[in-house]
Amino acid sequence: MFFDPMYFVFALPALLFGLWAQWRVKSALKKYSQERVYSGMSGSEIARRILDSRNLRDVRVEPTQGFLSDHYDPSTRVLRLSPQVYQGNSVAAAGIAAHETGHALQHAEGYMPLQIRTFMVPTVQIGSWLGPIIFMVGLFTTRLFGTTLAWVGLALFGATALFALVTLPVELDASKRAREILTTQGFVYQGQLDGVSRVLNAAALTYVAAAVQSLSTLMYYAFLLTGFGRDD
Ligand SMILES: [Zn+2]
Repeated sequence: MFFDPMYFVFALPALLFGLWAQWRVKSALKKYSQERVYSGMSGSEIARRILDSRNLRDVRVEPTQGFLSDHYDPSTRVLRLSPQVYQGNSVAAAGIAAHETGHALQHAEGYMPLQIRTFMVPTVQIGSWLGPIIFMVGLFTTRLFGTTLAWVGLALFGATALFALVTLPVELDASKRAREILTTQGFVYQGQLDGVSRVLNAAALTYVAAAVQSLSTLMYYAFLLTGFGRDD
């Protein structure tokens, strides 16, 4: 495709925001991976303890490879923690482990935004790559199809942006649960909660950045489509 400087007008602010968010995560992790958590327990021990206290003994906690690859898988009901979190007994590890456990609690309670998010996954997996292709094909075949095909591509990609937005309340709620649990169950003392918050807030920023990125791509598509054929 030809080079379009307008793309950068839409994409650059979101890209810079994303880089800034990643830098925030790295610096928060660097600092709070050094500080030992009050309870001295590892991320996996904390997750296990929280799950057991909520009668979720059948939810498994497993180690997984990769930096910040921590996640809860609702389809298998497995909580997978990265090596630093699984074994680590730092404030950062405790915060991330409790956050991921928060997703398991959301799932067990049938927390609505998580259900919507899970329901959207198949559409998003297809829409995120097929949407842009259909959109571009549609944009160059307007003589054949009018703008209909391009709008279909835009709508399909729009599901990705919607997914990124639905992710935000899910992530913020998991972090809120993590902070509450960590203090009420005595894993961290009050003074360490600030470190937990910094790590989790920085992680939340990366989700905000992802949402901004897909929304700005969506706006760029809409800009191309509504402006198509007007000024050439
Ligand atoms: Zn999360």
